[in-house]
Amino acid sequence: MAPRKGEVNDLTVLPELTELGILEELQARYRRDIIYTNIGDILIAVNPYKDLSIYGPEIGEQYTHEEYLHTLPPHVYAVATRCNSSLWNNGLQQCILVSGESGAGKTESAKMLISQLVRCSRGHRNKGLEEQILEVNPLLEAFGNAETVMNNNSSRFGKLIEIIFSPNGSITGAQITEHMLEKCRAVGQSVQENNFHIFYYLLAGLRPEELDLYFLSNPERYRIVDPGHGLLVFPDVCNFTSCKAMLDGLRHTLGIVGFSTQDMQLIFGTLAAILHLTNIEFVIDPDTDSVIIINEDEIDYASVLLSVQPEDMVAVLLANISFVRGERIVNLKTVPQACDGRDALSKAIYSRLFSWIVQQINLMLCDRSEADRSAITFIYVLDMAGFENFLVNSFEQLCINVANEQFQSYFNNYVFHLELAEYEREGVKQPKIKFNDNQGILDLFLQRNNGLFAVLDDECCLAKMTDMTMVDKLNQAFVRTEYYRKSRHRDPVFTIAHYAGLVTYNAVGFLDKNRDTMGTNLKSLMENSHNKLITELFTSQILDTGTLHVNKKGRGKNSWTPPEWKKPHRPDLGPEETLSRRAGRKLREKMKSGGGGSGDFQLSTGANTASGYFRNSLSQLMVKISSAEPHFIRCIKPNGSKTANSFDPKLVLNQLHSTGVIETTRIRRLGYSTRLSFQEFLERYKFLVFPLTAAIQTHPDNCKIILEIFLKYWHVDELSRLLNRQYEQLRTVQRLVRGFLARQH
Ligand code: ATP
Ligand code: MG
Repeated sequence: MAPRKGEVNDLTVLPELTELGILEELQARYRRDIIYTNIGDILIAVNPYKDLSIYGPEIGEQYTHEEYLHTLPPHVYAVATRCNSSLWNNGLQQCILVSGESGAGKTESAKMLISQLVRCSRGHRNKGLEEQILEVNPLLEAFGNAETVMNNNSSRFGKLIEIIFSPNGSITGAQITEHMLEKCRAVGQSVQENNFHIFYYLLAGLRPEELDLYFLSNPERYRIVDPGHGLLVFPDVCNFTSCKAMLDGLRHTLGIVGFSTQDMQLIFGTLAAILHLTNIEFVIDPDTDSVIIINEDEIDYASVLLSVQPEDMVAVLLANISFVRGERIVNLKTVPQACDGRDALSKAIYSRLFSWIVQQINLMLCDRSEADRSAITFIYVLDMAGFENFLVNSFEQLCINVANEQFQSYFNNYVFHLELAEYEREGVKQPKIKFNDNQGILDLFLQRNNGLFAVLDDECCLAKMTDMTMVDKLNQAFVRTEYYRKSRHRDPVFTIAHYAGLVTYNAVGFLDKNRDTMGTNLKSLMENSHNKLITELFTSQILDTGTLHVNKKGRGKNSWTPPEWKKPHRPDLGPEETLSRRAGRKLREKMKSGGGGSGDFQLSTGANTASGYFRNSLSQLMVKISSAEPHFIRCIKPNGSKTANSFDPKLVLNQLHSTGVIETTRIRRLGYSTRLSFQEFLERYKFLVFPLTAAIQTHPDNCKIILEIFLKYWHVDELSRLLNRQYEQLRTVQRLVRGFLARQH
C-alpha cells in the first residue's frame, strides 16, 4: 500500500521519485507542521516560522537513545544523538554541517544540536560549563547578528563550534571559530536593514548615568542606527522596550561567561566610540579649500573613549603622514578619502572587538582541556552564512558564495563520489546519476596562481589600478570559461554561474575591500592608546586566517580598569578656531616644509589581503571538517515573507535544486540509505530467518539468504505470516531490499 501524502519520513521510499513528488511530500508534511524529513542519513528541515511543541528537555530525552531513534519521527535531535553515538562507536571525530539560504533556520538548528549534544554527553556532567556553552549564543548573536531583508536575526558571520569531550564522555570544553564577519555593516547598511543588534541594545538599555559616561544620547542622533535621520527602526526581533531587556540579558550572559563589570564598561565604551566615530562628518572649508570636520564634539567623545589625543585623531583623519628616507611626507585627504579612513578605523575596531570577545569566550570555555588534548575527541557544528544573491552583490557576497561552493563540493564528494567509488569497489553496476559537479567553478576562484582571487591580489599590489582595470583583467582571463560572463557594457560588473544560480557582482570597491588596510597612521594611533582593551585589539597578532590571536597570559582572570573618561578641556583654542581648522593649518605648513608625496605606493603581497585571509580561513575550516565524519542538515526556507503557514513551491524547488536534494534522493534510493557491514547486518536481521540461538558465520552468503527470502516473498503481509514476524520490523528490512533490488537492475 502506498504511503499517504505527508507520511513519508524518508524520501528515499517515495513510490514515485520526481521533483514534484518530493515537493508535494514536503509541502504536505509542512501543512501538518512536520518540518523534518530524512533522505537516508541526510536531514531536511523546513523553517516553520512559529514555535512548535517538538523541542525541550523532555522530547530531547526521548531522542537520546540511539536504539529507539528509528521508531521516532525525523528530528534535528536525532542527528545530534546519532553523531554522539558515532563518536563513541567509531572513534572518529564527527562534524554536522548545517546549510541553507539566509533565514532557512541554520542557526536555530545549530542551537538545538548543541543542546542535544549536551544532553547526550555521558559521564559526570559539568553543569557550569554546559550552561556557559549554551549561553554563548545570545552573546555571539548580539554582536554578530543583524536584521536583514532575508532574516530578522541574520548571522553576519560563520561559525564553527567544537564541542570537546573527555574519554569518559563528558564535555570538557568548547571552542568557537568565527569566519568572515561582515564588518562593513558596522559603518552602514542598505535601506530596510539594520546594524548589528548590540548598538540598539545599548542605546535602548543603558541607564542614564551610563549614557552620560559614554557621551551618548538619543538613538536618532547616530548615523549607523538611523541613517535616515528620524526614521530609526529598532530591529523586528526587539522593539525599544525589548532591546532594553536584551541589554540586561546580555549583561547577565557576559557575567556567566566570565566578563567582569569593568570589562563590560570597556566593551560598551568601545562600541560608543564607534557610534561617535561613524557620526563624524567632513566638508571642504571654503576659506582654506581643505577638509575640516563639522562636528568636533564627536571627535572629542571618540578620542576620550579610545584614550587618544583628539589632536592626533584629527591629524590622522585629515592627512596621510609617512616617512620616506627620513623625510616626513604629508598628504592631505579629500573628503571621500577622509570618510574612508573614518570607516576603515570603525570597521577595524568592531571586527577586532568581535574577534576578541570570541577569543575571551574560548579562553573561558576551554582552558581546562589543554592538559590532555591527545585524549580528547570533538564534534564540530558548522553554521555558515548561506548562498547570497542580492540586487547588488559585492566582495562580501563573493566570499560567502565561494565558501558555499566549497561546502557544496564537499557534500557532492561525500554523497556522490564516495558512493560511486564504493559501488566500484564492491563490483556493483553504477547507477546513472547526473549531479552538478562544481569543481570547475571552485578552480576558477581558487587556483593558486591564476584563479580569480589571485588576479584580484595581483591587482591590489599595483599602483594606479582601478576596479575597472581589475574587471578588464578578469574578463581577459575568464571570459572563455563556462562559469564567467562578461558584462555587455564597459562597467565594473561580471556574472558568475554559481551552482545555485547566476549572480552578478558589482566590483566597485573590490580593490579597497581586498586591501583591507586602514593605514599605518590610524593603526599606530590605536596602538598607542592608554586604554588597555584598545591597545590589546591593535597590538595582538592577526593570524593568517584574519582572526585575532589574543595573548593568553595577557588578561587572564583579572579585568582591566577602564580609564577615566572625561571630556577634554581645551582653553588654548581661539574663538574662531576649531580642532580641525588648526590641524589643517599645521598640516599644510608641514607640507610646505616637507614636500608632498606622489601617492604612488607598492603594497606588500602575500596573505594579508582580505581574500588571502578568506582563502586561508576556508582551507583551515575544510581541513578540520574533512578529518571528521560528516552529518548533513539541509535547511529550507518555505517563503520569502518570514511568515508561518506559507509554502512557496517555486522558492522551495529552487533550493531543492541548488542543494542537490533531488539528486541526493535519487542516489540514496538507488544505493543503500544506511550502510551496514555484513556483520552488523547479520547481527540485526539474522533473527528474521535463522533460529535465535544459531551461531551464524559472518559471510556475505548468509546475508544473501536473508535477502533472497525477501525477494521471493515480496509482500510484507505474506512474509510476516510466513516468518511469524512483526510487520513493522519487516518493513524496515524491506527498505534495504529495495535498494538491493534497484542495484540489481
Ligand atoms: P542566516 O543565514 O541569515 O543567519 P539562518 O539560516 O541562520 O539565517 P535562523 O536565524 O536560524 O536562519 O532562522 C531564522 C528565523 O526563523 C529564526 O529567527 C526563527 O524565527 C525562525 N526559525 C528557524 N528555525 C525555527 C524552528 N525550528 N522553529 C521555529 N522557528 C524557527
Ligand atoms: Mg544564522
